[in-house]
Amino acid sequence: MSDFKEILDQTKRQIREVSVQEVNEKLNPANGFTLLDVRERDEWDQGHLDQAIFLPRGFLEVKADKELADKSQPIVVYCAGGTRSAFAAKTLQDLGYTDVYSMRGGFNEWKNNGFRFVTPEKVGKDQMARYSRHLRIPQVGEKGQLKLLKSKVLLVGAGGLGSPAGVYLAAAGVGTLGLVDYDVVDESNLQRQILHWTSSVGMTKVDSARRTLFEVNPDVKVRTYQLHLDASNILDIFSEYDVIVSGSDNFTTAYMVNDAAILLKKPVAYGSIFQFEGQASTFIPYQGPCFRCLYPEAAPPELAPSCDEAGVLGVLPGTVGLIQATEVIKLLLGIGRPLNGRLLTYDALEMTYRAFKVGRRPDCAACGPNARIDLASIPEFVCAVQTATKG
Ligand SMILES: [Zn+2]
Repeated sequence: MSDFKEILDQTKRQIREVSVQEVNEKLNPANGFTLLDVRERDEWDQGHLDQAIFLPRGFLEVKADKELADKSQPIVVYCAGGTRSAFAAKTLQDLGYTDVYSMRGGFNEWKNNGFRFVTPEKVGKDQMARYSRHLRIPQVGEKGQLKLLKSKVLLVGAGGLGSPAGVYLAAAGVGTLGLVDYDVVDESNLQRQILHWTSSVGMTKVDSARRTLFEVNPDVKVRTYQLHLDASNILDIFSEYDVIVSGSDNFTTAYMVNDAAILLKKPVAYGSIFQFEGQASTFIPYQGPCFRCLYPEAAPPELAPSCDEAGVLGVLPGTVGLIQATEVIKLLLGIGRPLNGRLLTYDALEMTYRAFKVGRRPDCAACGPNARIDLASIPEFVCAVQTATKG
């Protein structure tokens, strides 16, 4: 008998083995068992048992404490054919684990019996380089990047705020970007709306934006909606997305976006800009104030700081739009502290940021206990500068 065979047989006598049938029927996570996969990364990547913990044999001694904190938990170890798992089971016993099993025949036997397994999703090899700086941050990593690639973000407006937000969200690999904008690119947009180029003048903003975003990152699916949001379409469109970026420049749209987002419980990354000043907040329905909590009534026209024609420093939307994009990424990844319940103001001339605590209004018409949302009856508000220039 070879030395190896002898050692293996000896090891197997000191551990308990179970069949793949037993694991499938009862020794599984649904019944409180921990499944431990001790194969190598490339084997794991090609498929593994659902809810298994990945801990290659070579790291077992070093990482068992962290990955398997409770030494009395029942553990089923498996590898490809049942050999490495036998040694691993013995090691675990030596480390003080009291209820360890090795799955006979391993993953191959499991597969041969037609039992269910899962194949982990991976960032494609061709995408590794593009997202390598994300993959190196533990809070993002491959899992986070996959989340971003699967995420859907809607930009309401492909203008000043939607431009920087859209470019950076596309670069970051947010998999689907929706763009709502009815307008056509005008030369006066080019001073700040970086989605649009000199050669875009006269194109619809959604087509111009699609062209730019494709150049930024062809991984990203861009869906375009050349329309005005109204009660007839907003819920259908919003329901497709995880987060809404609202950079609308008038109260009618801002209320419409807010109310629809509350009905569908979608978070909104909000921003607004005027001359040298910007504001941003994140509205998470029922977890913090909404836009109507902050602005229960539309500002009177002479104070409404927000029309296409209003003056704005060209770089300002870059700053505010990127605060919105940052909030979106955080929300999608579930990291950090969102601007929920805080209004951030930015003064470009003073170069100061201030955060104000803001709370929900009990009488809020959109998120209060007596709210009655009616998307069809949101009035049309005029904005100051249009009134002034047209009047
Ligand atoms: Zn509210």
